[in-house]
Amino acid sequence: MPEIADGVFQLEIPMRYNPLGRTYSYLLLDSCTLIDTGVQSKEAFKAMLEQLKGLGMNVKDLEQIILTHLHRDHTGLVDRIRKVSEVRILAHEEAVEIQKRWAALGRRGYEETRDETKMWGGGGLLDILSRYEQAFRRPRPSLKIDGTVADGATLELEGSMLHVIWTPGHSRDHICIHDQGRELLFSGDHVFPKITSHVSLHTFQKGDPLADYLRSLERLRGLGFSIVLPGHEGVFEDLEGRINQLERHHEIRCGEI
Ligand SMILES: [Zn+2]
Ligand SMILES: [Zn+2]
Repeated sequence: MPEIADGVFQLEIPMRYNPLGRTYSYLLLDSCTLIDTGVQSKEAFKAMLEQLKGLGMNVKDLEQIILTHLHRDHTGLVDRIRKVSEVRILAHEEAVEIQKRWAALGRRGYEETRDETKMWGGGGLLDILSRYEQAFRRPRPSLKIDGTVADGATLELEGSMLHVIWTPGHSRDHICIHDQGRELLFSGDHVFPKITSHVSLHTFQKGDPLADYLRSLERLRGLGFSIVLPGHEGVFEDLEGRINQLERHHEIRCGEI
């Protein structure tokens, strides 16, 4: 398993049925901290156990998990890990708000999606959507978050000092984590080397996610780090160059629209 920097390891957690193929989880060995977990599956859990074992660690040794955001390919193994360890879960304060909204929405998720589809001219898709009605009506499992982190917070851990940068856009609760000492940026799903992050607009939610996303990209300029560690694809270096490309991409697409 690659050691990206002193005491920082990249764990590859397989993800079937998704063209991305895998999520990267990162282990900060000194503080027994994971950044993200990968999907919930037997195969994913086995991969995590084996990779931890390779470092002489057991999942029981984990002390905390910092979540870059609540998507299932990043949080899927949390409950499984929690069953066997005393791990603490940290996420951005918006993650708590998102879970409250899901709970309040409850079974109405189907109606909301149907109305939104109609409003955007997708009337022809309603038949297909209706086949998934029961799935939409199932309550979303809620994750127990033990502590929240705010924008600008510093997490002082054994062997690392992490700085939290709130980067809404891909999701409202998304954070990047900057390890200034090691010159690393854990970028979650905010910036990848090749693909663009999914930015979705939900009609019944307030805000402008693309504007948030572009502002969040700007926030990563000039941090002075050299290595970016995303949740998918792979490690890369030229962050400023990638930000320029992504901004240009969105400018072109907005122009087309
Ligand atoms: Zn995501
Ligand atoms: Zn992801």
